[in-house]
Amino acid sequence: MSVRVRYAPSPTGNQHIGGVRTALINYLFAKSQGGTFILRLEDTDRTRYSQEYVQNLYETFRWLGFYWDEGPDVGGSKGPYVQSERIDLYRRYAEELVFMDKAYYCFCDSERLEKLRQEQVAQKKDEIGYDRHCRYIAEEERARNLAEARPYVIRLKIPLHGITVFHDALLGQIEWKNEDISPDPVLLKSDGFPTYHLANVIDDHLMGITHIMRAQEWIPSAPMHKIMYDALGWEMPELCHLPMVLGPDGHKLSKRHGATAVNEFKKAGYLPEALINYIALLGCSYEDGRDIYSLDELVRLFRIDRLNKAPAVFDYQKLEWFNGQYIRMKSDKELAELIRPYLISAGLRKEEDPQKDQMELAAIPFIKERLKLLGDSPAIMSYLYKRLDMPAAEEFVPKKASIDEAIMYLEECRSILESSNLDDLPAIEEKFRERATVIGKKLGDILMPLRVAITYSRVSPPLFESMRILGKDECIKRIEAAVAYLRGA
Ligand code: GLU
Ligand code: ZN
Repeated sequence: MSVRVRYAPSPTGNQHIGGVRTALINYLFAKSQGGTFILRLEDTDRTRYSQEYVQNLYETFRWLGFYWDEGPDVGGSKGPYVQSERIDLYRRYAEELVFMDKAYYCFCDSERLEKLRQEQVAQKKDEIGYDRHCRYIAEEERARNLAEARPYVIRLKIPLHGITVFHDALLGQIEWKNEDISPDPVLLKSDGFPTYHLANVIDDHLMGITHIMRAQEWIPSAPMHKIMYDALGWEMPELCHLPMVLGPDGHKLSKRHGATAVNEFKKAGYLPEALINYIALLGCSYEDGRDIYSLDELVRLFRIDRLNKAPAVFDYQKLEWFNGQYIRMKSDKELAELIRPYLISAGLRKEEDPQKDQMELAAIPFIKERLKLLGDSPAIMSYLYKRLDMPAAEEFVPKKASIDEAIMYLEECRSILESSNLDDLPAIEEKFRERATVIGKKLGDILMPLRVAITYSRVSPPLFESMRILGKDECIKRIEAAVAYLRGA
């Protein structure tokens, strides 16, 4: 039987790392098996639903570059793939469960349920939940309520005793005491909308899902689902609950730890390849001693038994490292295009500017090494576009030297520069070296004030390359400005 898996998000928020991890593992598994990856929108929670989140979902996966074979936007033979378009189906199966005595009508109004809850709280009951009142109402009462058209929900009959057993590909056999299952969960709400449990089970079955791969937080739902599958006489798909993703402090990854929404990562300048590579490694090992995998390689190497049981820790620094690696793999031209939007929004250039295009292309080879996020490019490169505020005077001064000495070095540099050709970097470097020997100083000491004068920072991209890009006139002007500044300091 060909593998069919699904990613089934509820569009109640922007796509985040956890969701993408679930989707990616489903995708890798499907593709590694020659199977089908499906998107299903579980949009039955109408209060938290927003079309904007659906848009965000499509955009996120288009940007990431892996996509479903069947789904609301691409179609498929088992649609519709949006739960709100399948409402009639859910009612039909819920009524069937009632007919088979596996579920029942509950006419309790919200007042009664609220009163019940308050009583349970007052009595400090461990279990707060429905008291199964309507499971036992007499047939006449039920008929009367129906005749009066009283609103009802449909609840699943959870067996009162015994255990429910199901299998998880990763965690093995799981046994759940029926007493510990939520007492008679609602399947169909009074407005005719299904709950997650009902819609999820029916859709997984009707869409021919073979494996359910989802976050571990859904394990408590699995026994209810198993009871429904059994009641309907359907086979439950193979379950595989994925290890949790934790923040560095051991708590479930959340906004407290940093960015979690994919569009935030995108905005900061992460590359989709880096995110995919890093996320694929969360809770899964592929080959020993390797970190970098393309999506195709991940597909080739993925196996369920390579998933870990233990939770994965999301390490922002590691992700940054991955991003740096992928940035370095880009050609200069590709990278120039990738950083352009960041430079534009930082006001360093306009959209159309062939001169800047050229300058950036020349700068990329030595910028690349220091770039971890595309979004860092304006800060790293701004000195190539304009003069910046002068740093504190001490920044110009080499160790054990004075401001006057720094000024003297700058004057030396200026005179060397005036008689040099910036296109011949080795020659100019040699001149600086000779000059340093003549005046009995270290090359590094002489270059320190120059570096700060040109780039406004002690730690900056290579000095001579930067000077070549800026051109002789601009360099001399910056040296003069630094000298004037230091004289006034
Ligand atoms: N709609 C659920 C979610 O938001 C799906 C859980 C499942 O995969 O069963 O994650
Ligand atoms: Zn009731």
